[in-house]
Amino acid sequence: MRKANYVFRLDDVSFDMNLANFQKIQSILDKYDVQPIIGVIPCNRDPKLAGYGKDSRMEEDSFWLMVQNLQRDKGWAIALHGYDHVYCSNKGGILKTHERSEFAGLSEAEQDRKISLGKKILEDHGLQIAAFMAPAHTFDKTTLKVLAAHGIQTVTDGFGLYPYRKHGMTFVPQIMARPLPMPFGIFTICLHPNTMRDKDFERVEAFLSEYKRDVISFEEAAARTADCILKKLLNLFVRWCFSTRATLKMIQRKFKNIPLLRGGA
Ligand SMILES: [Zn+2]
Repeated sequence: MRKANYVFRLDDVSFDMNLANFQKIQSILDKYDVQPIIGVIPCNRDPKLAGYGKDSRMEEDSFWLMVQNLQRDKGWAIALHGYDHVYCSNKGGILKTHERSEFAGLSEAEQDRKISLGKKILEDHGLQIAAFMAPAHTFDKTTLKVLAAHGIQTVTDGFGLYPYRKHGMTFVPQIMARPLPMPFGIFTICLHPNTMRDKDFERVEAFLSEYKRDVISFEEAAARTADCILKKLLNLFVRWCFSTRATLKMIQRKFKNIPLLRGGA
């Protein structure tokens, strides 16, 4: 079995993001020649996210030019990060990581409207979409059906140690929120530049100075789906662990008064 590999993923890239933080993580990734996948919000209307950029809001034209350059000149991959990033449902979808969603639980027509609009905005700005990145990690089978109909067949999400095929899609799993060295597997390190602090940047830099050679592109990860029984079994085990954890947390939130389930984060 090969040693571990890592993919960097940056969430919540929009014209009204925290630009200083984004530039800071970009300079670190550039220094180590790392090409992440970035989740671009086509039409951000999430007031919480917009608040992060209140002092550094970009002109929309400048923003799109910047994203085009990141894809064309630096080889960064682009993910469609929803349409407007507004949570309009309390469904947990397939992964049940959170009980809020821009997509899960909505009708097929509504999901199709959002995916169509978002995809059109990115493509009208000359961007190629490598994957779908669901806000709050929440999507359902209808989302996947709509994505497939629009030619998007890869998702940056899911539970596992290796990319896998399911529901007719390729999933590049995401179970790591900060860089950690691992003995084997392919890990997506999910960063939120808007809220990163000095110690978070330092952690990324320290990790890259040690493990840069083990970082791969999103495209390479997506091409390396679990290809042997051992990897598939590991994936099933990890998926079971994370799904069980997510379900227990959901039950805990719903029934806060059950003493046995108290005490979790
Ligand atoms: Zn997001």
